[in-house]
Amino acid sequence: KILDQIKAWAPEMEALTDKQLSKKTYEFKKRLSEGETLDDLLPEAFAAICEADKRVLGMYPYDVQILGGIALHKGYIAEMNTGEGKTLTATMPLYLNALTGKSCHLLTANGYLAMRDKEEMGPAYEFMGLTVATSEQRDESAKVDGKEKKLIYAADIVYGTHGTLGFNYLFNNLVTSAEDRFLRDFYYVIIDEADSVLLDAAQTPLVIAGAPRVQSNLYELADFFVTTLIEDEDYEKEDKTVWLTDKGVNYAERFFKIDNFYGEEHFEINRHVTLALRAHKLFQKGKDYMINEKDELTLLDGGSGRLMPGVKLQGGMHQALECKEKIKLTGENRSMASITYQNLFLLFEKMSGMSGTVSDAKDELKDIYQKDVVIIPPNRPLQRKDLPDVYVRDAESQIKLAMFEVLQVHATGQPVLIVVSSIADSEKISELLLKEEIPHSVLNANNAFWEAEMIKEAGQLGAVTVSTGMAGRGTDIKLGKGVRELGGLAVIGIGRMGNVRQERQARGRAGRQGDPGFSKFYVSLQDENVVNSGLPNVKEYASGEKRISNRKIKKVIDQAQALGEEGASGGRKSSLDYDTVMQRQRKLMYLTRNALLDGLDTSNERLLELAKWNFDIVFGDRKDVTEWELQRYILDNITYSVPGKIEAEILADSENLKDYLLDLVAMKLDEQKGKLDSEEDFAQFVRVSILTAVDTAWIDQVDYLRQLQSAVGGRSTAQRNPVFEYQEESFEAYEKMKIVIRRELMRNILLSSVSMKKGKLSIITP
Ligand code: ADP
Ligand code: MG
Repeated sequence: KILDQIKAWAPEMEALTDKQLSKKTYEFKKRLSEGETLDDLLPEAFAAICEADKRVLGMYPYDVQILGGIALHKGYIAEMNTGEGKTLTATMPLYLNALTGKSCHLLTANGYLAMRDKEEMGPAYEFMGLTVATSEQRDESAKVDGKEKKLIYAADIVYGTHGTLGFNYLFNNLVTSAEDRFLRDFYYVIIDEADSVLLDAAQTPLVIAGAPRVQSNLYELADFFVTTLIEDEDYEKEDKTVWLTDKGVNYAERFFKIDNFYGEEHFEINRHVTLALRAHKLFQKGKDYMINEKDELTLLDGGSGRLMPGVKLQGGMHQALECKEKIKLTGENRSMASITYQNLFLLFEKMSGMSGTVSDAKDELKDIYQKDVVIIPPNRPLQRKDLPDVYVRDAESQIKLAMFEVLQVHATGQPVLIVVSSIADSEKISELLLKEEIPHSVLNANNAFWEAEMIKEAGQLGAVTVSTGMAGRGTDIKLGKGVRELGGLAVIGIGRMGNVRQERQARGRAGRQGDPGFSKFYVSLQDENVVNSGLPNVKEYASGEKRISNRKIKKVIDQAQALGEEGASGGRKSSLDYDTVMQRQRKLMYLTRNALLDGLDTSNERLLELAKWNFDIVFGDRKDVTEWELQRYILDNITYSVPGKIEAEILADSENLKDYLLDLVAMKLDEQKGKLDSEEDFAQFVRVSILTAVDTAWIDQVDYLRQLQSAVGGRSTAQRNPVFEYQEESFEAYEKMKIVIRRELMRNILLSSVSMKKGKLSIITP
């Protein structure tokens, strides 16, 4: 119905001059401010931007794209096949939502796509009088300063990656003055390649690292301890978790000479043992990480098998692995701020997404993001043939069979895209192709920019391309001359992928916009996902040691993939549970910070109130405070000038004692004020003092929570629910942090050495 309304407006828009058309934006904004809603405006506004798309970009959105656009506006996740034109589809809802003047974002998986889409679609928005920017740049390591960021994020529509936005969100909340903030409140977001961003990348926390941590000497001790453990006696292992048994805990208590392994005072020992246990029992050299020739530990990406130089595991895990491998430990940094993507997206008022392959994960998207998936039909009927999988016993015959087919297809001139699941496989295939003297390109998810250039050519006559799953994602493969007649692009998959979505993504490389093409997967019992599935006897079946029927081969391989998906989905759920705790605390802290930056009550009354609160915590209604104790307290918290003799009646009565202390505070406040030029300077001084206290405490808290998470992660046994323990302990820590903040902010105000230097505040905190 809405589509019909939009199309009814089309002729009118078509009749407008360029100038009249672009003035529509102004009119729509005005009508919004007069009470019309975005839904009221939708048909007209969509018709206007469609017309602009035609005039400026030379493409008028197809009906199915308009449907997709409506779904995106309504906050759905739209499934639209590869090549259906999701980039153009997004212009409609982005234009409509940007009419609010609030911050609208399009996020995608890599910088290349963000820059490309901003370049290509940008002129249409600009024609309509809106501003558009991208947060990405070709040279990813180049620094963008705060001023530039402010300009970028001031744009009506921003194209970027989830990574950049996530880090910027964290940085935005670490600034020390209001004018340094560069983000606007998040309003609307469309996530392109939504499954890869929302599911595959979602768990990885973004962490801003701060000052180096003092190296702990517990790593080696814990490492040695773990090497003395016996499986199934001292510890047990299941899937991706490992934990100490009761016997193991007793042994640990004896080994470390402590009485309670789970006691708060032994948190560090517990944490290091957990880390060492995981390093030894869950991480495999060659599969999860490698040691390079410089004796450095480099992580391997499970999905694509690619190296991830520079990426470090958090919370001490990296150091525990280094310890296991007996190489030099890298310095550890404290975490200053952290968020997972899941929670980043939940900060938007409206969130939507699009992808070629989301319907397979629709239950999970509903569960984690409360989002529904809408399937948009293709513009032209799908012609690609997805042929049945070929199941074989071992890798050798798998590759032989697949290569045989590749050679046959290639002989006809039909382009072939070979999709593999690891870098190692891509190299193996490449070698075989070289032996056959077949020129080909190899893509293995290293550089989005040149991969895009290479994969574009994969549809040309006679082209052979070898690619790992994710490489070149988002780039359209157009067919070369004469290729349609030969049957379009052939996709040959080798190896079962981690999940069905990734396989559909690979198949979707062929058959775009009604093109011909086919896809076929060769899978075996020696595919990594099958070998690592933990299913019984897989090795013996594959080697022929145990007999297996063809039907059973199929069953085992399918089961392995299902198991893997279940595990991944469970992991995402629990990482959200963990992060939700931090999210609540983070929200409160960021609100507090913003309130501070925007000004706050710095009156004497308010400060004295805070001081009184502190005294209540420390002294309560005690009547037995000694003179020495009180003097110590005053020196540590109120003033460096030693108070004289304190009368007995003050010490013996808590009310007298607090009044006495409050007098001291009032005096000290006057003294501090006296060193400054104006009330405004004093207010600024108080703000900075409080901000410093809040930040220091919050940074400690983030750091603690990250470590706590890795510590409790190892505690999952029948009796212990790690998420629950995590929640409980982090809540306690939060309450403690509040006390610390109030104590420290008063110390900062009272004990800082403060003065005016050439009209500027100079503060040295205690
Ligand atoms: P997707 O992201 O859905 O895989 P893209 O946005 O990359 O697809 O678009 C694929 C190709 O289709 C692009 O080359 C684009 O120019 C073209 N295209 C998209 N929509 C239209 C349209 N309405 N008219 C003409 N060409 C279009
Ligand atoms: Mg795309």
